[in-house]
Amino acid sequence: MPKSTLRDLAIRGKRLFVRVDFNVPLSKTGEVTDDTRIRAVLPTLNYALDEGASLVLASHLGRPRGKVDPAYSLQPVAARLQALLGKPVRLASDCIGADTEALVRALRPGAVLLLENLRFHAAEEKNDAAFAQALARLGEVYVNDAFGAAHRAHASTAGIAAYLQPAVAGLLMDAEVTHLSKSRRQPEQPLVAVLGGAKVSDKIPLIMNLLDKVSALLIGGGMAYTLLQVQGYPVGDSLVEPDCLPMARDILAKALDCRVQCFLPRDHVIAQEIKADAPTRVVADEGIPAGWKGLDIAMPTVQRFGAVLRTARTVVWNGPMGVFEMPPFRQGTVEIAQAVAACTGTTVVGGGDTIAALALTDCSQAMTHISTGGGASLEFLEGKTLPGIACLNDR
Ligand code: AMP
Repeated sequence: MPKSTLRDLAIRGKRLFVRVDFNVPLSKTGEVTDDTRIRAVLPTLNYALDEGASLVLASHLGRPRGKVDPAYSLQPVAARLQALLGKPVRLASDCIGADTEALVRALRPGAVLLLENLRFHAAEEKNDAAFAQALARLGEVYVNDAFGAAHRAHASTAGIAAYLQPAVAGLLMDAEVTHLSKSRRQPEQPLVAVLGGAKVSDKIPLIMNLLDKVSALLIGGGMAYTLLQVQGYPVGDSLVEPDCLPMARDILAKALDCRVQCFLPRDHVIAQEIKADAPTRVVADEGIPAGWKGLDIAMPTVQRFGAVLRTARTVVWNGPMGVFEMPPFRQGTVEIAQAVAACTGTTVVGGGDTIAALALTDCSQAMTHISTGGGASLEFLEGKTLPGIACLNDR
């Protein structure tokens, strides 16, 4: 880890401003449905509290688009964090301002204050200097433990470090960078990447970069259908991004040039609607008929992907193979999780949806590293400099 971490500082009696990633999924009734990201930060919080620091925690939640929206309040997160820490967690009604500053000044060593959603202010995502300064006033040390948001240059993830020093990595950030660096520098070959999720548009630059590094690429999920359309395979009403067709063509051409085997699904669980009780069918080489959508990968594609994974010494997996949230479209993702878990080399899994899918299996323990960052882990593995890491003090 080239950056200073929390362990490098004497923090007794200090007030730490800790940027965390508490962007967790909530149910319709406002309960936290998966607390993986909260649990992931507990080592940092418990370490700092044991050392006698007080904590000001800041996070975003969802996309409230720069306005106060009670649906995106961090209240449910405060309740869950309080239960996990076993000590009171107070929620400030805003993340900046005189009232918040007064609450912060009253904090005693060992106390925890969670600030309300940073994205209730449009200035956060604009990396506004005045907003970054207002946040900086709340702490004496800046700790960035929000690896999942480190690829964003926002006020709380990057801008603040210009006004609040020292600026160091939290323990989760440290662990993420240390583990992911191993796969980035010299991954043991063969390196196989498994990509899925809804959209190919999100992952085009990543795929282009990965083609220089991997020996095989396995693509499933909604993103496969734009590529299949380019190949002339009938995709019916599956998710296709027409704007991305030229880039999808470039991906397939580059894969050929680089002699990277790019495996796309040829067997699909299909339905006419994305509904848990929709009637389903399985189709193969004949393709997907009009009016039907591909919603999961099916046998023998699953076996074909599994056979490639068995040859791998390093696997990077990001994105589900289907609409795993609904049982009829889950099996492909579960089987791929099992195939990745069976790999005896290094396995790195990343992204909120992939972690949620993994939680439905018993495979989590078998992975070398489960990254809390989706986009962040992919950008890091691409070799990019992440603003949330670059802004921290060098060791
Ligand atoms: P992403 O946010 O891009 O990682 O995508 C994750 C989402 O992709 C999940 O909510 C899945 O339900 C969805 N998804 C996966 N496969 C498909 C598919 N074949 N069609 C539509 N959505 C899909």
